[in-house]
Amino acid sequence: MQEKFRIGISSCLLGHEVRWNAGHKLDKYLTHTLGQFVVYVAVCPEVEAGFGVPRESMRLVGDPDHPRLITFKSKTDHTDRMIAWAKKRVRELEKEDLCGFIFKSDSPSSGMVRVKVYNEKGMPHKVGIGIFARVFMEHFPLIPVEDDGRLNDPLIRENYMEQIFTMQRWREHLAVKRSMGNLVDFHTRNKLLILSHSPKHYRLMGKLVADGKKMPIKELYDQYQQILMEALKLKTTIKKHTNVTQHLMGYFKNQLTPDEKQELLEVFEQYRNELVPLLVPITLINHYVRKYDQHYLKQQTYLNPHPLELKLRTHV
Ligand code: SF4
Repeated sequence: MQEKFRIGISSCLLGHEVRWNAGHKLDKYLTHTLGQFVVYVAVCPEVEAGFGVPRESMRLVGDPDHPRLITFKSKTDHTDRMIAWAKKRVRELEKEDLCGFIFKSDSPSSGMVRVKVYNEKGMPHKVGIGIFARVFMEHFPLIPVEDDGRLNDPLIRENYMEQIFTMQRWREHLAVKRSMGNLVDFHTRNKLLILSHSPKHYRLMGKLVADGKKMPIKELYDQYQQILMEALKLKTTIKKHTNVTQHLMGYFKNQLTPDEKQELLEVFEQYRNELVPLLVPITLINHYVRKYDQHYLKQQTYLNPHPLELKLRTHV
């Protein structure tokens, strides 16, 4: 069992009764399933900024890029108070070493995308970002973020889990001495995972590491982290996975029997035609990795990017 790592989360998703009406928005996948592997750092901007429970509900009003946070009935403007609190809170969160943040969707404080912003005629447009979420994302541009609504999409969920588990491995890596050798080792283990998100970033990172000795180690690490997190934000596709699985098969070409090769090719084709989920070819490859004791592939995070208990890679 790997050590748990820290993820920030909007408190109401944990079942805390902190909403304006004293309700919550418990998300059982996050608490019961992902919760087995992470320690949550709960943040409720509206309660922590002192608005109490229950409280008057709020909404975003005005310029979508610089909206005001206004209470629904009394029209009190809480924007400055919320921004001042958020700036202080993100500085405190620096100490938490977060590998991700999961926001509550649609909230004027916590929503990270498509939050309703009301214009002067009182018409809502889903174009805003919650006040705290904006401050957080500006302060921590490399920390993977998602919201509970988007995480219901299997592909977005899978993508996000790969981001946070990779961030955790990267943090563990940073805890060891920074050196060319260690970076090459990290990159080698994550090569195929990166390739499954972006062949372009895969090439860029390969070049960065190959030329690594030409720059100071801090700059090299900073650039590597930036490109790594950029790459993992890009969604995987069937085409990209098919490319990686075929690449993987190359490592067995002298060991697989003709029957085994045929079986793998058939399973790849079934995956490509959306008849079976990704987990099927990956399970078969993992079987041959063990059978033929493939050292290079055994260390590839692509084959085991997150715990099986998360039930990912199972959608067609
Ligand atoms: S959405 Fe954000 S501000 Fe609203 S209750 Fe949840 S954590 Fe608190």
